[in-house]
Amino acid sequence: MIRVEDVRKRFPGAASATLDGVSFTLEKGGLAAILGPSGSGKSTLLRCIVGLERPDTGSIHLGGQAGLVFQSFELFPHLTVLGNCTLAQRLVAGRSRDEAEARARQLLEELGLGHRLEAWPEMLSGGQRQRVAIARALAMEPAVLLYDEPTSALDPSLRREVVETLRRVGALGMTQLVVTHDVQLARAAETVLVLDHGHLVEQGPPAQVLDAPRHEATRRLLAQAN
Ligand code: ATP
Ligand code: MG
Repeated sequence: MIRVEDVRKRFPGAASATLDGVSFTLEKGGLAAILGPSGSGKSTLLRCIVGLERPDTGSIHLGGQAGLVFQSFELFPHLTVLGNCTLAQRLVAGRSRDEAEARARQLLEELGLGHRLEAWPEMLSGGQRQRVAIARALAMEPAVLLYDEPTSALDPSLRREVVETLRRVGALGMTQLVVTHDVQLARAAETVLVLDHGHLVEQGPPAQVLDAPRHEATRRLLAQAN
């Protein structure tokens, strides 16, 4: 579950607020997509939710920690797939090697990487690297998983794979919030949120927001995407 209430954030010296009273709720196990033009505050919102930025006012409730999957995946190049997925479990969560490996194996299998446990990141496809990054985040048992433009570093043929991965992660009961410019990815979400100049200008199911947009900012985004 994610509950964001009236979050405001204005960076020192900025002419206007980057987030200007943002509120929304996402149920446990749900997938929401955030669309919005460049500079509208999407990454800042994710950074506030994960705790990398502190909102000036407002509140955020998650019922646990958030895991953030970066656009560039940020795998450790000198560690195998299994090593990538066990390091934080051992160093941060204090789990034993056996316990950490058992959890990592299970998640990697669920994400279709059971045959790549000993591979090095450079041997993997972009889509596989991303699934490793997701498994690594899931291994820390976050309450929610956040993604900042997960398809923008991938070529179009891999984008469908990302949609499939988000479905698999959702089937594990994980609450997910994804910032994206990719309308096809947004279609896979239950809820689409549109951010414009720090305001949430539209939210609803894809059939409403993407097929019958009410706000000018949404129409502009969709026109650019086509
Ligand atoms: P994009 O689609 O290009 O990734 P975005 O919607 O993620 O854009 P943000 O990165 O959240 O946009 O930035 C929103 C605004 O806040 C921008 O004007 C940016 O310059 C400003 N901003 C973000 N982080 C900081 C910071 N640490 N200090 C000052 N200004 C910042
Ligand atoms: Mg951004």
